[in-house]
Amino acid sequence: MNRRSFLYTSAFGGLALTAFPSMLASCKDGLAEDLRFEGKVIVIGAGAAGLYAAQILLNQGADVIVLEASNRIGGRIKNNSTFSDFPIELGAEEVHGEKSMLYDAAVASGAQFVDDESTDYYYFNGSLKSQAEATENTLFNTMLEAVDGIVDYTGGDTTAQAYGEISNVSDNVVHIFNALVGNEHGTDNSRIGMFGLRTEEERWTSGDQNLPLRNTTMDEVIRFACADALPIVTLEQIVQTIEHHSNGVRVTTADGTVYSADAIVCTVPITQLKNNSIQFIPSLSAAKSAAIEKIGMDRGMKIILQFSERIWPSNMSAVYGRGLIPIFWATSLGRSDEFILTGFVHGSNAEALAAMGEQGILNQALEELDVLFGEASDTYVQGLVYDWGNEPFIEGAYSYPTPDMGDAIEVLAQPVGNRLFFAGEASHTGGHTSTVHGAMETGLRAALEVIQNTPRQ
Ligand SMILES: Cc1cc2nc3c(=O)[nH]c(=O)nc-3n(C[C@H](O)[C@H](O)[C@H](O)COP(=O)(O)OP(=O)(O)OC[C@H]3O[C@@H](n4cnc5c(N)ncnc54)[C@H](O)[C@@H]3O)c2cc1C
Repeated sequence: MNRRSFLYTSAFGGLALTAFPSMLASCKDGLAEDLRFEGKVIVIGAGAAGLYAAQILLNQGADVIVLEASNRIGGRIKNNSTFSDFPIELGAEEVHGEKSMLYDAAVASGAQFVDDESTDYYYFNGSLKSQAEATENTLFNTMLEAVDGIVDYTGGDTTAQAYGEISNVSDNVVHIFNALVGNEHGTDNSRIGMFGLRTEEERWTSGDQNLPLRNTTMDEVIRFACADALPIVTLEQIVQTIEHHSNGVRVTTADGTVYSADAIVCTVPITQLKNNSIQFIPSLSAAKSAAIEKIGMDRGMKIILQFSERIWPSNMSAVYGRGLIPIFWATSLGRSDEFILTGFVHGSNAEALAAMGEQGILNQALEELDVLFGEASDTYVQGLVYDWGNEPFIEGAYSYPTPDMGDAIEVLAQPVGNRLFFAGEASHTGGHTSTVHGAMETGLRAALEVIQNTPRQ
């Protein structure tokens, strides 16, 4: 399948049909011919959401520019190609599910996925256990039942930590519970809300497999999916003000450049809306500002470590330890003969690590791996820490639901009038927040909102 047919069939294979039922009658295999928009649109941010919004709008006839604050395309998609003999993903790494436009794009671009028979290992009660051994333990199984039970949760909107307590998750395995729930969602169990978790479980439609790319990178896949949009990105344009009026929009960047258009799609991370790095004129409503405040996004980091030999079991996919770093996975598995682990940590643990500095973080990781495997420090070759909390214009990992967040995601996603539209992973109302395919789906949603709502000249 070529990229264009991928774009059209994927776009209407999922979200667009459910999000825009009124369009069903007019659409067959793709965006309908009459869904043209020949106005001018400014897209803010060149991550997955912004690039995909721009791609769709270009295809429907719009005159689009993408303004990106940093000096590169991709946002939270980034890799390091010098650390090892294969590119290490510093941000998004896995395609979450085989029923999404990202999966379709990956396959259409020739991507293959890591396919192996590996298993997870867990450290509790003083020793490392394989998945098979762990599931012989009652405390472990009670904890897994609590994870599985999130979708059926009927209590009030409390934290996952409180839910763990009422579900009798034992202190012996609570670190694994935190890894599987809070850390996986970009924070820790003391901060994440049960209603948001449950909603995500209920609405998730993209499939259950987590698919690491084997022969390509997330950057290459997103560039393939959004190829037409790449030349229209202007880098190092830090948007500072957005003026939105009934007759048009105006954007001013840090170097004083002014851009005018018919509509804006704003895709900046929720952190950037929280810290008011962009001034909206007129101001966003109190409801919108409150929604922005309620959506969480914490510091998060990857800790990449190379060893001279494999110190972990040959069939190990990931290991859940008891220290500050809740999970390490075997990044090199199925990709390279080198021996590389990635630690993944968010929320309060990431904050504690950040205070240690890079060398302190690497030492901490090695100490934790020594506990798990005995000889990590002896075989250590090199390491790197990528802290998304320090990434300019992003300042965190990905969004998560806080307790009592209510309909904050829906409110964030709502357009302001018919010229200011919001996209970006945090605005996904269908349960795919904090993913690349979710970000793309919000880009599609916002592009369609522009096409349907913005007055034509
Ligand atoms: C460590 C980590 C691991 C992850 N793993 C996965 C994974 O395995 N699978 C998965 O699907 N997802 C994963 N994600 C999540 C995924 O990367 C994001 O959900 C997705 O890439 C977000 O895309 P976006 O377009 O919404 O935002 P971004 O990619 O953040 O793009 C927003 C852009 O806006 C720009 N910007 C900010 N402020 C301004 C301004 N004032 N003016 C102009 N531009 C501005 C930023 O520089 C940025 O480029 C991971 C994320 C992290 C951090």
